[in-house]
Amino acid sequence: MIDLLSLDQQDMEALAVANGFPKFRGKQLYEWCHKKEIFDYGAMTNLPRDFIAFLEANAVMKRGELITVKTSGQADAVKFLLDFDGALIETVLLRYHTKSGGDRNTLCVSTQAGCAMGCKFCATAKNGLSRNLTTGEIIDQVNFANAYLRQNNSESVSNIVYMGMGEPLANYDAVWRSIGILNHAKNIGMRRITVSTCGLVPAIDRLAAEHAQLTLAVSLHSANDALRQKLMPIAKKYPLDQLMEALNRYMAVTKRRVTIEYALFNRVNDGIKDAEELGLLLEHKGFHVNLIPGNPVAETGLETSPKRRIAAFAAILKEHNIETSIRESKGQDVEGACGQLRANHTNS
Ligand code: SF4
Repeated sequence: MIDLLSLDQQDMEALAVANGFPKFRGKQLYEWCHKKEIFDYGAMTNLPRDFIAFLEANAVMKRGELITVKTSGQADAVKFLLDFDGALIETVLLRYHTKSGGDRNTLCVSTQAGCAMGCKFCATAKNGLSRNLTTGEIIDQVNFANAYLRQNNSESVSNIVYMGMGEPLANYDAVWRSIGILNHAKNIGMRRITVSTCGLVPAIDRLAAEHAQLTLAVSLHSANDALRQKLMPIAKKYPLDQLMEALNRYMAVTKRRVTIEYALFNRVNDGIKDAEELGLLLEHKGFHVNLIPGNPVAETGLETSPKRRIAAFAAILKEHNIETSIRESKGQDVEGACGQLRANHTNS
């Protein structure tokens, strides 16, 4: 059966034409599935009976099953646990009220069931990679979040961060196709989409060649190769010099500033020396640094960096004239660290 939620407009138009229907039927189908988020052929009122009969016989709109929804105290962080054919996936919605009175609803989507990258601080890494998610499974996370927001009289998802379970650039084709659908059908501007990577150099070059105006975020977590390799095994394959060259190429090609993500763990990577090394690596290159209080994950023994150490770290980056933000840590009470909700559900 054809998985309709994994198809973009061109695919649906091609499907219609290849099966003897006019091209515009594909566009209508695309609008029902991806714009209006209607998943019942019977409700697609402008489609003729013969096209619906063809779809019923040959295609499915494969949805995940909602297992749990957890909200934080103020309902500003909502975590969805979804089951896609036995693969448990989480997606986290962060809700902000902007100063202008509107809503900013940022969804952190997963791209793989599990992950092969083995980052030490990450619960998702624990059981390795089960499989890549399809484009439809990535898009369906947005469908579930939008349904929740509609029920709560809120505007739909406005921003996407590919920072949930999995390494997005290790599932490149499905991720890139999902970006196209989000941008085109769900009206999420490229500049409101962030793709986060642990530093897969060839895929960074491939993404640069797309000339997309999205934001690339790179998890660095140390400016020292030896320490970075301990925290992130992928750094053995792509050491800092190779990664920094790729990021410089990326910025030169796309003219977009790259965000450096740096999770701070108490007395592991949050000292003065660590900050100085990071300052020297990044100064005069136009990066933006996000400092993130590292989420404690019980089985790793890593602890969140205290606020005063984070402030001291940020002050050193400022001395190096590096634009730095300290990320507000939302959603810890819904187990906001990647992979934790799934891990707890599996263990219970
Ligand atoms: S932090 Fe991201 S890339 Fe690293 S193991 Fe976890 S999910 Fe994979």
